[in-house]
Amino acid sequence: MTTLNGEDEVAGLCRDLIRIDSTNAGDNTGPGERAAAEYVAEKLAEVGLEPQILESDSRRANVVARIAGEDSSRDALLLHGHLDVVPFDAADWTLHPLSGEVADGCVWGRGAVDMKNMDAMILAVVRQRLSEGRRPPRDVVLAFTADEEAGGTYGAQWLATEHKDLFDGCTEAIGEVGGFSVSIDETRRLYLIEAAEKGIAWMRLTATGRAGHGSMLNNENAVTELAEAIGRIGRYEWPVRLTQTVGTFLTETSRALGLEFDPNDPEATVAKLGPLARMIGATLRNTANPTMLEAGYKANVIPQTATAHVDGRFLPGYEEEFFQTLDELLGPNVTREFVYHDIALETGFDGPLVRAMADALVAEDPGALAVPYTLSGGTDLKAFSTLGVRGFGFAPLKLPAGLDFSGMFHGVDERVPVDSLQFGVRVLDRFLDGC
Ligand SMILES: [Zn+2]
Repeated sequence: MTTLNGEDEVAGLCRDLIRIDSTNAGDNTGPGERAAAEYVAEKLAEVGLEPQILESDSRRANVVARIAGEDSSRDALLLHGHLDVVPFDAADWTLHPLSGEVADGCVWGRGAVDMKNMDAMILAVVRQRLSEGRRPPRDVVLAFTADEEAGGTYGAQWLATEHKDLFDGCTEAIGEVGGFSVSIDETRRLYLIEAAEKGIAWMRLTATGRAGHGSMLNNENAVTELAEAIGRIGRYEWPVRLTQTVGTFLTETSRALGLEFDPNDPEATVAKLGPLARMIGATLRNTANPTMLEAGYKANVIPQTATAHVDGRFLPGYEEEFFQTLDELLGPNVTREFVYHDIALETGFDGPLVRAMADALVAEDPGALAVPYTLSGGTDLKAFSTLGVRGFGFAPLKLPAGLDFSGMFHGVDERVPVDSLQFGVRVLDRFLDGC
């Protein structure tokens, strides 16, 4: 087999994946992930793996492959990336989001950040290692999933229930969202590794009252009842709750920035974090934001019911408190049901796998400081965690100072520097040596 070079290949792999339309509108319409899955499977088969394409529904395709490690008796490591991307409005973009063009040293397009970049890095590093005959120290399972952007019904959730056997022995995982750098100064960079995720509670609220003529007295008006509950929820100030991961993040980051960290006032520290404040601020507390309202059909008719939607997010360890508080805010006349509900996650930032990530970063960037953080959203890791997997967001990228990387997730003009991708390949290669 000819030897392949991951650093040479990675930008081309990322471009090819971006050019394959795998947008996920969330309603099981659209192109699906089949074409992207076939591309990935072909790239893996070329280096001797036997990838399986697993379809959960027409064109909703996942790819899973296992690399035999030097010691297969050890627990396996899962590397996962999703193949779908969120939709776009091409008119808003400088370059077409499906172009995959390289300009200004970056690969541009939908998925360049979330997360065809990491898919390409995984492919590049695996292809290089296998073409050189370098096996990882233990079994590595690769999973390229469908449907992450709509909760993983056709992807990770389906794999974790219908194809458990493919993940036999997996106890640890890496995937999105993390591993990217945030510059402290000229020489030092934080690398944010995701070690926790907030839980998700999308809810439909319903107030039921007494329907009637709009000219009559009515003290059981569903619209009034619902509006009051929504007002209470929207204006509620959730208390600050310092979780282990957020506490470690703020301690380490404050030290690196030369800031005073007062655990009794974490908000003061977060306020000094610049562009990171938006991302970290949401992990200091539970949140519940009203997002949709619906009631009535005519100006002089009081409707029987009124409904609203609320996007709730709870911290690991605070789910019970979240729902207790929420039910108090709802009051006795408004009910709630889930539109979508998923768990929170948290794992300690310690152990050999964490050391392997931190060491690989420092070896390629002597100014690297790996810190754990909590993601305010969710990833496929929630589904894989049900298999007993402990996971991290680790898609390593050394980014230029000033690039608002976290702002490009689902944003316009998604792009990733080619040399950041190459850095990621080198770090993942070292990480796999030490995993
Ligand atoms: Zn993603």
